[in-house]
Amino acid sequence: MSVRVRFAPSPTGDLHIGGVRTALYNYLHARHTGGVFVLRIEDTDQARNSEESLKTIKEGLAWCGLGWDDGPYYQSKRLDRYKELAKQLEEKGRAYWKTDPEKGTALHFKLEQGQQKFTDLVHGTVSFMYTGEPDFVLLRSSGFPTFMFANAVDDHDMNITQVLRGDDHLSNTPKQLQLFQAFGWTPPDYGHMPLIFDPNGAKLSKREIEMYRSIGLPVTVSECQRLGYLPEAIVNFLALLGWSPGNNLELMTLEEMVKLFTVERIGSTPARFLVDKLQWMNGQYIRKCPLDRLVELCRPYLAGKYDLGKVEAETLKEAVRQQQERLKRLDEIVPLTKFVFLPAVEYDEKAVAKWLKADGGKAILEELRAGLAPRERFEKEPVENLLKAVAEKRGVKLGKVAQPLRVALTGSDQSPPMHETLAILGKERVISRIDSTLKML
Ligand code: GLU
Repeated sequence: MSVRVRFAPSPTGDLHIGGVRTALYNYLHARHTGGVFVLRIEDTDQARNSEESLKTIKEGLAWCGLGWDDGPYYQSKRLDRYKELAKQLEEKGRAYWKTDPEKGTALHFKLEQGQQKFTDLVHGTVSFMYTGEPDFVLLRSSGFPTFMFANAVDDHDMNITQVLRGDDHLSNTPKQLQLFQAFGWTPPDYGHMPLIFDPNGAKLSKREIEMYRSIGLPVTVSECQRLGYLPEAIVNFLALLGWSPGNNLELMTLEEMVKLFTVERIGSTPARFLVDKLQWMNGQYIRKCPLDRLVELCRPYLAGKYDLGKVEAETLKEAVRQQQERLKRLDEIVPLTKFVFLPAVEYDEKAVAKWLKADGGKAILEELRAGLAPRERFEKEPVENLLKAVAEKRGVKLGKVAQPLRVALTGSDQSPPMHETLAILGKERVISRIDSTLKML
């Protein structure tokens, strides 16, 4: 039987990275086996569903490059089907209506007690013991089905062959298996993936977005975008959070993952989200990114802070190129290019004290001004020769000469190589920044 798997999100909020990982594993399994990846929207929670969330989910999957082959199917459009099947269970004596103060009037499934055993694709044999386990609700009086019921019905109706989902659903599986049995249907195979843990070893929380943001850990796709992660990096990182291709392989394109992915290599212990690893990986993808694309990726971050209206395309491109080796996240482009895009220098007081106010700083800057002023362009060799000559004459290290100039031009003691820093600013700004720095000293 050919593989049919599905991603079945409930449209009740952002697309969580745990959800992306679930979608990814199902996608990889479908592609690897030549099967079909179905998108199913589990929108039966009338109070919590939103159109906006649905849009976020679809756009998030598209951003990650995880296209589906079939669907989206909407549970809200299949209410008649659930009612019809609920009636069958009632007729078979497996379901009954009951009114209670908490749940109102609802159709309940008669659960069989005792040992519940099944084989999980990830965990192997799993067993639960039901003693006094309460019957669960199938349909509410509103006619809407519960997750437990609609999810199982759809997996049957949509011919789903494997259900790969998070460990948080493990305890639902015996109940859903009883539904399949009651209908006389063959169930899919279930595989439950380990939960994602945060760096502290606690279950990744949906509520700690702010705290996670401060350490660069994105919990949702929109956080991935805000913090400047590339989709390739996110997908690659999430692939390894619970699955391993072996051979210490780490950097992989989606196509490579498709080739290597097997359900057998999904791990059964929780995977820890290591921010440093994600940032390293993101840096790797930034290095590989063609410059034109990187410029477009950086543009929204820059446009949010600087007036790019008057900036020439070549300057923008060069400013990004100068930082390509250094970036670990796209948002870092903003502080790193401040010296290019802000009209005035913002001095870092510590750097000023260390390099300009310290002895010799001002004299060095004056001497460099004299050496730079006759030049129209700043090429590597002449600039380096000038710095070397001044350093030799004064008997100091090269850094002692370059740093005062760097601070005068950029406000900071970190910037691209000196000749690149000079070149991107251009003659006029170089001289005027040196002059206003000298005035300040
Ligand atoms: N709607 C469920 C969820 O978002 C789907 C669970 C499943 O994959 O079976 O958790």
